Amino acid sequence: MTPRVRFAPSPTGYLHVGAARTALYNYLFAHHNGGTFILRSDDTDKDRGSDEFQEDILEHLRWLGLEWDEGFAVGGPHGSYRQSDRYDRYREVARDLVDRGSAYYSFATAGQLDAFKQEAREAGTSPAYDGSLEPSEAEASERLAAGETAVVRFRVPRPGATEFADVVRGDMRFDHAQVDDFVILRSDGTPTYHLASTVDDVDYGITHVIRGEDLLSSTPKHILLTQAIGGNPVTYAHLSLLMGPDGKKLSKRHGDTAMAVYSEAGYLPESMNNYLALLGWNPGEDDTILPLEEMVRRFDLDTVSKNPAVFDPKKLEWMNGVYIREMGDAEFIAVTLPLVEEAVGRTLSDEDRLRYAMLVPLVKERAKLLPEVATQARFLFVDVDEYDEKAWSKVMAVDEGPVALDGAIAALEGLDPWTTEAIDTALRAMLEESELSARKGLQPIRVAISGSTVSPPLFESLEILGRDDSLARMRRARAALS
Ligand code: GLU
Repeated sequence: MTPRVRFAPSPTGYLHVGAARTALYNYLFAHHNGGTFILRSDDTDKDRGSDEFQEDILEHLRWLGLEWDEGFAVGGPHGSYRQSDRYDRYREVARDLVDRGSAYYSFATAGQLDAFKQEAREAGTSPAYDGSLEPSEAEASERLAAGETAVVRFRVPRPGATEFADVVRGDMRFDHAQVDDFVILRSDGTPTYHLASTVDDVDYGITHVIRGEDLLSSTPKHILLTQAIGGNPVTYAHLSLLMGPDGKKLSKRHGDTAMAVYSEAGYLPESMNNYLALLGWNPGEDDTILPLEEMVRRFDLDTVSKNPAVFDPKKLEWMNGVYIREMGDAEFIAVTLPLVEEAVGRTLSDEDRLRYAMLVPLVKERAKLLPEVATQARFLFVDVDEYDEKAWSKVMAVDEGPVALDGAIAALEGLDPWTTEAIDTALRAMLEESELSARKGLQPIRVAISGSTVSPPLFESLEILGRDDSLARMRRARAALS
């Protein structure tokens, strides 16, 4: 039997990086085992759910390349894979469970339930609600017939316990003395998460449920429901939640948790997948840089750790830099050209593109995020329109500024050929003659040609910019100093 797994996000928020890791592990597990990766929309919460969140989830799963084989928005043999389309099915199952005695209509009010729990605690008995406040079956039928509303609760077998072997967490045991007769259908006829999720898992033939640890305590309920419905047993794997660098549950406090922020900031989906995969899974052999296909080849759910993993944006950024460096120049140009053109404000001409291609090896080597490439390349295509204020006051408007620029202009004016090596030699000679350190003598040139102290390596930049533009920019900066 090939595995069938599902990722089942509720569209009540943007795709969270932790949820993306859950999706990725489902994807890796399915692909490694020749199984099916299904996407389900758990959209039963009409108050908190929105189309915008739903769209965001789809968009970023696709951005990550975690395409699903079956499910929401792509279809399959089980309909829309959207829970809000299946209320009739959930009601039918709830009614059937009532008919067979596995569930019952419950009239107990919140106040009565509180009192029940309070008394149980005081008496030292189990506080799990066991249905003992309910009317007889005959009375219940009468009250329903008279139009009274009731929820439907699952009848948890007592005494008893549910045991299962969680792939990640090991042997688990939940004593039913701790499990309430839980609600499966609300009084308005809408299903709870427990009912909808379990019915879907059974109907869709799900074999493995891989999800966050926050749902671990729901699992005995899902197992009991699955048995009562007559579904096939499911294997569970509960992943540890992601932590911030301070060891607390990853949240907004730690910075950005929405995948959209990372895709917009210029992270590559490849590095994001790679980084997320390593949060809990060790591929072995000390390897850290693994493309998706390689992760698919090696993925083993049995080796996923139950220790909490820390989401560290600094490490993600480092990994992104590794992926950028490993890109071929052509691919790098293809993904960065639109960013450069946006920064420059026009389409690049053929000549501009040649210039950009010359710069690429220099910026690719250093970049951690793609947009910084555009910022660094901009000077090649637009004249300096303003100087960075701090750079100006720190390196230009000081004694060394005019000395360095005068020296550089004199050294470069008649330089032939205009190559990186020749520029290097000429400017180093200038530094020696003017008794300037490399920092004090070269930074003004950098600010003159790029407007800031951050630019690709200087000698190469000058070569690519060309003699005329370079000298014109230095003269203009020099003039602004007198
Ligand atoms: N819809 C649930 C959530 O977003 C997950 C359901 C599940 O994986 O069982 O938390």
